[in-house]
Amino acid sequence: MSKLGVVFGGSRGIGCAVARLLAQRGHRVVVVSRNLEAAQATADSLPGGEHIGLSCDVSKEVEVQKAFETITKTCGPVGYLVNAAGINRDALLLRSKYEDMVSVLHTNLLGSMLTCRAALKSMLTVGGAIVNIGSVVGVKGNTGQCVYSASKAGLEGFTFSLAKEVASRSIRVNLVAPGLIQTDMTAGLKEHEDGRKIPLGRFGKPEEVALAVLFLLESPYVTGQVLLVDGGLQLVM
Ligand code: NAP
Repeated sequence: MSKLGVVFGGSRGIGCAVARLLAQRGHRVVVVSRNLEAAQATADSLPGGEHIGLSCDVSKEVEVQKAFETITKTCGPVGYLVNAAGINRDALLLRSKYEDMVSVLHTNLLGSMLTCRAALKSMLTVGGAIVNIGSVVGVKGNTGQCVYSASKAGLEGFTFSLAKEVASRSIRVNLVAPGLIQTDMTAGLKEHEDGRKIPLGRFGKPEEVALAVLFLLESPYVTGQVLLVDGGLQLVM
């Protein structure tokens, strides 16, 4: 049955691949990012009709509330929520700037809490599924990524707790933890060098993460899980 899928961070990268896969499966998709033109362009490029693009900064409570008011008024209850909005400001902790720490935590962790809280209001009566995008770095840690790692590890604890809180309402909450994926976020890395340490020998594609996200959205008896999609990177970190 066709559902309404809301993808934060859907304008490009992993979120864009998730939005495309949901649309290919016949779902109506709301693509959300700070840049309205980019969100709209991605929504317009999706197969099927009636997809929409919205601007919202997930780190801002009022913007998240307004986005969900618009979504539920225009499109009805949210069936699937995917939190793929995220940023990194990689630096050794000693060199990390306070403003960057706040931005990373507010976008990656607080942002997903705000979108989940807002989405739950429309899911409580009809059920739903949420997938948060964490990171292998949240599971294993990494030099130069203390703050990013903390934001993603926090998202795991949040996912486990929320899954317990809302299971009785037929709402499932899971987390996909990608490794190194070919997106703007990893554009500064050299795949021929960094890919060597990955057991599968290469970076992943956004579409490969999207398949895992779809699996968790559609699996009716899976909740409170972390699914690593990292080509085996966690085995060697
Ligand atoms: P990306 O290509 O840089 O895309 C990030 C998306 O998030 C864009 O749509 C961006 O649009 C949106 N975004 C950023 N800040 C936002 C905010 N405050 N409010 C709303 N939207 C915001 O990144 P990606 O690689 O696809 O990453 C997606 C998620 O996967 C992130 O959470 C990232 O931490 C995680 N991840 C990525 C990798 C990887 O190797 N790429 C690995 C592990 C985990 P705007 O800039 O227009 O807002």
